[in-house]
Amino acid sequence: MQAGIIGLGAMGTGMARNIARSGYLTKLWNRTPDKAHKLAAELGIEAATSIQQLASSIDIIIICVSADNDLLEVINAILPYVKPGCIVIDTSTVSSATALVAADLLASRQIHFLDAPVSGGVEGAKNGTLAMMVGGDNAILDKVKPVLEAMCARIIYMGKTGMGQGTKAVNQIMAAGINQAVTEALAFAQAEGLPLEKVIEVVAGGAAGNWFLDHRGLSMTQQDFQPGFKLGLHHKDLKICQSMAAKNLASLPGVEQTLLDYDELIKEGYADEDISALFRLKQRESSAG
Ligand code: NAP
Repeated sequence: MQAGIIGLGAMGTGMARNIARSGYLTKLWNRTPDKAHKLAAELGIEAATSIQQLASSIDIIIICVSADNDLLEVINAILPYVKPGCIVIDTSTVSSATALVAADLLASRQIHFLDAPVSGGVEGAKNGTLAMMVGGDNAILDKVKPVLEAMCARIIYMGKTGMGQGTKAVNQIMAAGINQAVTEALAFAQAEGLPLEKVIEVVAGGAAGNWFLDHRGLSMTQQDFQPGFKLGLHHKDLKICQSMAAKNLASLPGVEQTLLDYDELIKEGYADEDISALFRLKQRESSAG
């Protein structure tokens, strides 16, 4: 099995390194070519000269791009070139509806598609410990598991196409609530004049401990908001959750509040910062009045 990857951002780069280590990665491509050439040289594999060249020469294509339109742009660009029988795996976070469109486009040329979003942050991508939630044909997933296991600690088959992305929406709703809770609590601790490092250490060991506090707690209190997970990308995910909920006439108050907060931060120019930049707002709110 020869695999290739399209999209070498914060997540794709770590994924590529781990798949390369397993020996399955033979080609990579990135829209900004510099990143691809640098990584290809580091890994001793080929940077494809074009997205079409990558598409026409491998059996498994892993995609990790930003948003719905980007995924469809990539699918349309590779569609005429991918070999029938090839398996395309999308690890980006997009809507279930977009996953269905991508699957239909590819099926018209006998190409398989799995929607396989991931969770675990850039650390998970780097360490090969991502959690992957997969929609599509389980038999196809079985075929590509050896490749995916190079970058994931947990791979769970969720059901038909779109159910991987549906599950990722659940994850993103939870991540919004956790971001609200951690940033608000640490801003409160700061306003109380508590020793923040000790607060994080002790709270992390108890019932309120969580991944976000472990990985972003200290950095946010030091005003370090390097991504990580860009706030603009989480905003995009929460808009997807909002429209999914609207279809069921359901309400997501935590998501609504987080979208309002992110809108404010994006207006102030913080879209490319980590989602922990929400701490900026909470600090203002904690010290107001
Ligand atoms: P990122 O660092 O911003 O990287 C985005 C990548 O997508 C870049 O390689 C970019 O190419 C490429 N890209 C964007 N639009 C494209 C287009 N139209 N055609 C071709 N390539 C395009 O983002 P990331 O953090 O890696 O996230 C990637 C995906 O994973 C997103 O859907 C995100 O929601 C999801 N995700 C992120 C995290 C996280 O913690 N960061 C965790 C789980 C899931 P250029 O280099 O040319 O810009």
